Amino acid sequence: MHMKPATAKISSVALKHNIREIKRKAPNSKIIAIVKANAYGHGVVFVSSAIEQMVDCFGVARLEEALSLRSNGITKPILLLEGFFSEKDLPIIAVNNIQTIVHNREQLTALQRAEVPNQIKVWVKVDTGMHRLGVSLEQTDEFYRLLQDCPNVDKNIGFVSHFSRADELDCGYTEKQLADFLRVTQDKQGERSIAASGGILFWQESHLDWIRPGIIMYGISPNNTPSKEYGLIPVMTLTSSLIAVRDHKKGEPVGYGGRWVSEKDTKIGVIAIGYGDGYPRDMPSGTPVYVNGRRVPIVGKVSMDMLTVDLGADSQDQVGDEVILWGKELPIEEIAQIGGVLSYELITKLTPRVLTEYID
Ligand SMILES: *Cc1c(COP(=O)(O)O)cnc(C)c1O
Repeated sequence: MHMKPATAKISSVALKHNIREIKRKAPNSKIIAIVKANAYGHGVVFVSSAIEQMVDCFGVARLEEALSLRSNGITKPILLLEGFFSEKDLPIIAVNNIQTIVHNREQLTALQRAEVPNQIKVWVKVDTGMHRLGVSLEQTDEFYRLLQDCPNVDKNIGFVSHFSRADELDCGYTEKQLADFLRVTQDKQGERSIAASGGILFWQESHLDWIRPGIIMYGISPNNTPSKEYGLIPVMTLTSSLIAVRDHKKGEPVGYGGRWVSEKDTKIGVIAIGYGDGYPRDMPSGTPVYVNGRRVPIVGKVSMDMLTVDLGADSQDQVGDEVILWGKELPIEEIAQIGGVLSYELITKLTPRVLTEYID
């Protein structure tokens, strides 16, 4: 008897395939590989080491994430996508070859005041319409000039912006964001970057000098279309196993609240994964899981450590058999859509209890 608990199987072959596919889609752009949030739940050290030779820079959201990459031997440049959070971070950033975005006046002032051992490479974040972070179109010139005049700043200043609706193909907003970005940066030296996954897949003209792939590196679409359509392979297969197969009588309920009641005699499979592992509690009855080559529906509420499926009366499934919650066999985009969540959330909300297995 062997029952394996919730395990995320991570494929470096799939990861490298996706990077090659991204390079094929954007052959003239350098790559900032986005590995924030533990590489979207895939394991930041494994992912970064596996692809370091294929990419030009890494992107993270927190200084701690950048320093963890450095202490694990990553030497390529690292970009702080939200910039630094404290003036005290600047000397650390400088000596660790970390680059920073500058998106507000407080960061600019801190850079002007800081004492650092060497110049820091910065990117001006331009707000072209997301209206979350960034310098306004009108202020871009002034920020650029002030940064150029700042002795702590490397004169090779870059420009970044971010699309808010890149997955909508005909709303007109992306074209406007791109045109504004090109306009305010056109007479300046620096390299430019605006495309994340949506821009890379859907807006060829937005690729520019640097692309910033996140979710598509992991073989997942930025929208609800299964990623296979874009030539990508899911890097993660989320698995667990059957820990019980039980005869179940017609008319009997399953699980908390007894909301789902079987309309026939059947076999119920109990799978060792639940919301304590990050599988959403809200997934409705009917959501598929993949067992022994077929889909079977979740029935009853997802609990903390387990969920239940209707295996069918003729099921031959055994305790210990592997179950796939999402992966190549069962697109995560489909699961996300059923749950009314984003694929991004599903992968980043897995908890530390889920084991990680690097399969190739
Ligand atoms: C997270 C992030 C990305 C990657 O986005 P995806 O949609 O996952 O490709 C790119 N740029 C910035 C600034 C980000 O914060």
